[in-house]
Amino acid sequence: MFVFRRVVLWFGCACASLLSSSALHAQTVAFTFDDGPRLAETPLLTPLQRNQALLATLARQHVSAALFVTAGNGANTPEGYALAKAWGDAGHAIGNHTMTHPDLHSDKISLAQYQQEVSDCDQIIRTLPGYQKWFRYTYLREGNTPEKRDGMRSYLKQLGYRNAYVSLDTSDWRFDEKLQQVLKANPQADITPIKTAYLAHLRQRALAYRELSQQLQGRDIPQIMLMHHNLVNALWLDEAITQFRQMGWSITTPAKAFADTVYQLQPDRPAPGQSLLLSMARSLGLGKFPGWERLVDDGDEEMHLLKAQGL
Ligand SMILES: [Zn+2]
Repeated sequence: MFVFRRVVLWFGCACASLLSSSALHAQTVAFTFDDGPRLAETPLLTPLQRNQALLATLARQHVSAALFVTAGNGANTPEGYALAKAWGDAGHAIGNHTMTHPDLHSDKISLAQYQQEVSDCDQIIRTLPGYQKWFRYTYLREGNTPEKRDGMRSYLKQLGYRNAYVSLDTSDWRFDEKLQQVLKANPQADITPIKTAYLAHLRQRALAYRELSQQLQGRDIPQIMLMHHNLVNALWLDEAITQFRQMGWSITTPAKAFADTVYQLQPDRPAPGQSLLLSMARSLGLGKFPGWERLVDDGDEEMHLLKAQGL
């Protein structure tokens, strides 16, 4: 605890007034979906049905979310563009998540190539309703060298873009992979255990990142959660939102969450990435705090439990 006390002083010095007021407010979370819209085929639902299922759930639950578009997954075609436009038309925010989802930590991707990916995606999404100059790094990786990291930071600034940080990182994609694998092998399979594991995973990550926020910031920050435009959420987003409400959390909009001062921070370790909270912890040399393994394990524990159930 001594270590975290120092951290609170380090990051939380300007937050004395917030400390007293945060206790009065429920923990909030904003929903953001990456890599969409996707035209790839999956079991059970067509791309249009997946898109409609996500949007119908968000509307029914009165949640205003953000879609981070990877244009090469579909929005660069008339069919996929229409799916992205449906998000903007429904009042959701549209952000940039590159053209082809390259990894800035790869030696094969130069700073100039990555910048081009951002610019090309911007050309497509800027015509959509809900367009925001919000950039979500692919794999949440800000570059494997200081040159890439600083080059991207100044490039985004020059374009008027913000880094659309994630604080509450989930591995929903892992459950999506499992779900598709199981259904492809047997379309009649009982997928209820995967839903249960997915919801347990979201709950575990939410509680762990809330605790990390309290340790690093001395308060509950509005959490910005990363999910994906995928089958798992097309099927079970409704239960996920309900679970957050049952935990006493309230849903905020991405714009309101990004307005919090914590999302102005720029961690200074050589290659920041992943959740902003994890990145902050590592900037402070807190690589291995209690519970860190469960934040980077890609849902391994839940996967082991599913395997034990024959899935
Ligand atoms: Zn992505």
